[in-house]
Amino acid sequence: MRQWLTKIRKQWHIEHNRCQSCGMPLMYDRNRLHTVYCSYCHDGKTFRQSLDLKGMRRKVRSLLLDRKAPSWIRVYMHWRLATLARWRQG
Ligand SMILES: [Zn+2]
Repeated sequence: MRQWLTKIRKQWHIEHNRCQSCGMPLMYDRNRLHTVYCSYCHDGKTFRQSLDLKGMRRKVRSLLLDRKAPSWIRVYMHWRLATLARWRQG
């Protein structure tokens, strides 16, 4: 039971600390230059690439395919990207 709680707590932490542009867990980004965006998306002043949500979905999809991520993760991230701060306003 305690192991489960630890896992759930870790997952909760990941969900609440994803890059608000690409969805990458910020705990894996050691060079972060912005509070809510990862170093691949943001250099601390501006976004590195001007993408729309469609473009970002395409980029994340091919990244996940390269890493041979399970298909449910691709489906999840497709949905999850739309909930991130960078894409919510538009
Ligand atoms: Zn990012």
